[in-house]
Amino acid sequence: MPSTEKHTMEDDFTIARKKQKTSDEQKPPETSSDSDFSDLEEYETNTSTSTVNINYDLYLETINRKVLDFTYPKICSISLKTTSIYCCLTCSKYFQGRSTTTPAYKHSIDSGHHVFANLSNFKFYILPENYEVKGTKALESLNDIKMLISPSYNDKQITKLNQPDNLGIDLNGDSYVPGFIGLTNMSGQLDYANVIVLALSHVSNIRDFFLTWGPLV
Ligand SMILES: [Zn+2]
Repeated sequence: MPSTEKHTMEDDFTIARKKQKTSDEQKPPETSSDSDFSDLEEYETNTSTSTVNINYDLYLETINRKVLDFTYPKICSISLKTTSIYCCLTCSKYFQGRSTTTPAYKHSIDSGHHVFANLSNFKFYILPENYEVKGTKALESLNDIKMLISPSYNDKQITKLNQPDNLGIDLNGDSYVPGFIGLTNMSGQLDYANVIVLALSHVSNIRDFFLTWGPLV
């Protein structure tokens, strides 16, 4: 009866394979563990913005206007990426993204800094709660920061710049024209160029031309 015995062993093997296959199909799918920065390319997707019972003024008092500087290249200080860059309005550092695995989100958790400005669309967001600041009064209080990120002037404002009463008075009692600040010496090689740019900015015709040009970056 060898042939019958062999047939029986093959049947047992086939049944065992079927049971194993059925068992594998019933197992829950394995979850991926590589969560770090896994959705860096999905910053703006899958992020919902709640509009229910939001106090838009919350955290705005944590903004530190003295440290804000928007003259640096829009590069994430962690990932060095250049897309979807937000500025933390408490420490002025640049971070990428807004979803839960991005540097901006992690910074809000680690540092307790909550207010971020998108450097491309000039909108303001609260992290880690992840909602956009939309309150009218809250947005009005942020207009000065929006102006720093993307300066824009209309003809009426430019005309006012040339009027004598636009001058300010410094702590020494000397008059000065508001709006002129030192330029960032990026890479330590632009100081000579900065001198020329600042000198030309005092020529009203040249200044007015670039003020009406719109954002340069
Ligand atoms: Zn910060």
